[in-house]
Amino acid sequence: MKGNSVQVERSESATLAAHPQPDTPVMDYSQRIARQVAAVPRSGIRDFFELVLGRDDVISLGVGEPDFATPWNIRQAAIQSLERGQTSYTSNLGLLSLRKEIANYVGGFFDVEYDPASEVLVTVGVSEALDVSLRALLNPGDEVIYHEPCYVSYSPSVVMAHGVAVPVATRQRDNFSLKPDELAKAITPRSRVLLLNFPTNPTGGVASKEDLEGIAKLCIEHDLICITDEIYSELRYDDEKHISIASLPGMRERTILLHGFSKAFAMTGFRLGYACAPAPLVEAMMKIHQYSMLCAPITSQAAAVEALQNGKEPMEQMRESYHERRDFFVRRLNEIGMDCHVPGGAFYAFPDIRKFGLSSQDFAMGLLESQGVAAVPGNAFGPSGEGFLRCCYATAFDQLQEAADRIEKYVATLG
Ligand code: PLP
Repeated sequence: MKGNSVQVERSESATLAAHPQPDTPVMDYSQRIARQVAAVPRSGIRDFFELVLGRDDVISLGVGEPDFATPWNIRQAAIQSLERGQTSYTSNLGLLSLRKEIANYVGGFFDVEYDPASEVLVTVGVSEALDVSLRALLNPGDEVIYHEPCYVSYSPSVVMAHGVAVPVATRQRDNFSLKPDELAKAITPRSRVLLLNFPTNPTGGVASKEDLEGIAKLCIEHDLICITDEIYSELRYDDEKHISIASLPGMRERTILLHGFSKAFAMTGFRLGYACAPAPLVEAMMKIHQYSMLCAPITSQAAAVEALQNGKEPMEQMRESYHERRDFFVRRLNEIGMDCHVPGGAFYAFPDIRKFGLSSQDFAMGLLESQGVAAVPGNAFGPSGEGFLRCCYATAFDQLQEAADRIEKYVATLG
């Protein structure tokens, strides 16, 4: 297990504090920031976790990343690549050897075939893959529909790509799946893109095959391009097989499949992801990537080859461990009286706290101040997350047990 990022950030902020801050600026910078950037708020998660810095007594269920260090064979591949002196740029698209492994993996896991020479782009995480996808597709004013609560960067990424963000609220009773009839209501003549993420951050929600088929039908009828963020797709539980919308009839040609190494392979710090799509779309995305990023880091690409060739076993072990923790933690939350659906994937529990009569900010703040447990207020993931709390259970088992006991004590004080 590795130290969490809260600790890393703490030491960084101590270093910053030791340096004198520059004088107050004389220029009015607010007039110089591009409108679409000024329009975007800072991430609610980061703001919340500023409060946690410097507190040693806090159990963090906050940051959404694996608590495992990257498996040793993958780290070793990175080390050996450096030892061999592989420190150069790669092709803009990424190492061909990696793209071949990706096409092979995606073909096997998602049941969709891509040509490694022209239909795979290696990026700096799914984060960059999402950004280049949106920038490649959107003209100013184009609408992007996505289901909410959702990953914090979706709405800002759309806005910064000059698009219009159109969230569709999902519900606990539907497992936070996107219902085709709700999607249909959000489609307008300006709709261009549908952005999906199953399993979902922050809800752990999954979509049934039936829902995906209904969604696919609408995409085809309304000529939408679908961007599907598959970053948690290996982290499915209860022996359920993951289905990507890209594999449904008529969808491959209109889908950009985003995936990466951060979650399933515990490689967040390697910053590596990829996009698979028909060649003309990859070509457009590659232009943005080429001029802004040039290529993904070669050391990370070498590690990723190893992850795809020999990373299945450690990945399965990590998944099994999350599964056990999910079962324990969700059961405890429900015992405590926090209504929590059973998340079918990812590593987040998303309990409903509405019956306690507090906003999600106040609930999370009270929990942090009185019991030293940090969880993210649901409204950080969009207005429809209000009334919920995101708890990342990729946390050591004894810490999870302790967190559940502390949450129980806090809830008892709410009457
Ligand atoms: N997409 C979702 C749904 C996420 O939850 C995250 C990270 O938490 C990302 C994308 C970013 O992933 P990456 O580390 O590959 O940039």
